[in-house]
Amino acid sequence: MPSGRRPNIIYIMSDDHASHAMSCYGSVVNETPNMDRIAEEGVRLDNCFCTNAICTPSRAAVLTGKYAHQNGVRVFNDMDQRQMTAPKLLQQAGYQTAIFGKWHLGHGGIHNPQGFDRWCVLPGQGLYHDPEFYDQSDEKTVIPGYATDIITDMSLEWMDGRDEERPFFLMTHHKAPHRPWDPDEKHMDMFLDEIPEPPTLWDDYENRATAAKIAEMRIGRDFRERDVKYPRPEGLSDDDYKRWCYQRYMQDYLRCVQSVDDNIGRMLDYLDESGLAENTVIVYTSDQGFFLGDHGWYDKRFMYEESLRMPFVVRYPEEINPGQANDDIILNVDFAPLFLDYAGLETPRQMQGRSFRDCLRGEAPDDWRDSFYYRYYVHLDGGHNVFAHYGVRTDRYKLIYYYRNDPGPREWELFDLQTDPMEMCSVYNDPAYADVVAELKAELLRLRSEVGDQDDPF
Ligand code: CA
Repeated sequence: MPSGRRPNIIYIMSDDHASHAMSCYGSVVNETPNMDRIAEEGVRLDNCFCTNAICTPSRAAVLTGKYAHQNGVRVFNDMDQRQMTAPKLLQQAGYQTAIFGKWHLGHGGIHNPQGFDRWCVLPGQGLYHDPEFYDQSDEKTVIPGYATDIITDMSLEWMDGRDEERPFFLMTHHKAPHRPWDPDEKHMDMFLDEIPEPPTLWDDYENRATAAKIAEMRIGRDFRERDVKYPRPEGLSDDDYKRWCYQRYMQDYLRCVQSVDDNIGRMLDYLDESGLAENTVIVYTSDQGFFLGDHGWYDKRFMYEESLRMPFVVRYPEEINPGQANDDIILNVDFAPLFLDYAGLETPRQMQGRSFRDCLRGEAPDDWRDSFYYRYYVHLDGGHNVFAHYGVRTDRYKLIYYYRNDPGPREWELFDLQTDPMEMCSVYNDPAYADVVAELKAELLRLRSEVGDQDDPF
């Protein structure tokens, strides 16, 4: 029964964790019992997407509820924290607020976290082992241990020392499982059996725009020794080296995920032991998805499903019935409005997302979106040579426009996700889809106008 109290909100976000490495999303490569527990006791979102599949922009979208062209974080640039964010509004409304772990939105002055009573974050990407942190005293401190454990320790200590009379908003931002995938030693004996290869590991990039073929994020060819931790074994063919790299990559990636799952278990235990479970909204998500050998790749950036999708599970026993799956289209710009809604606050006009609180109760409003706009900007900027692109996705189709092909022509791709869920064959030039192309181009124009993004028209 609702208590009428404003709930506490715990937002746990990891970095580059694809939903197909979570057992509640059907993973065939690992088990994540604690993440699954949130889904089993709450809701799993099956159509949650980022609006720009890269770390820093996704973080800015989550804080501001705005698209990249509005919050100013299109690529890896620092974020001007003077703009309105959900933590600031929650703090003003009497919430105790804190963030621990990965920030990656800049260091110093207007780039330091704002709207938090307490913050302690990693500089830049941070380290997995014995990481350095800095906080509002601006002193850097090396903390011995493993980053995922330390970030959880900080979160638990802060919750333990809070004012019990006021609700809290906590952002626990893990570095894991971001490259270079350094596991905790205690997990090194896991995932030693052969890990299944994804069906598209040997994608030849035919039947699509040139963007996929040109991208430099291939398992094997584009790995560094630092990524796989060992020199290339002698005598392996290129194909066998690719197979070997896939195993090495996934072993370490999944070990890093294992630590995140273990530590979510610690957070859930704490909520149980402290009597907070009923009146606390707890979310687990990641800043975007990731290619786990899919299309022969690691990394993200593309509007393809594996990187576009965000895992998102949430539990709030006072309001959400357990064991649900939801397929409404939810975006990362919707997170800030959701947090504010739970705190009883209206979504400010400048936020572009929309609270999906009713969707989580299984009562999506009749006018809920059935398409969305995506845009990736990074290119020739350490961007794995992924052409900048934007596009529209509906429940069935995805139209992508690669507008910054250098060298090369501007190109389109259309995928019919019903007949080609793995996105192996663009049907953009298939006459049977001419009407679909026309409809989606009109929808893309409408969405670009709606979100106010008019640069680089097609
Ligand atoms: Ca990321």
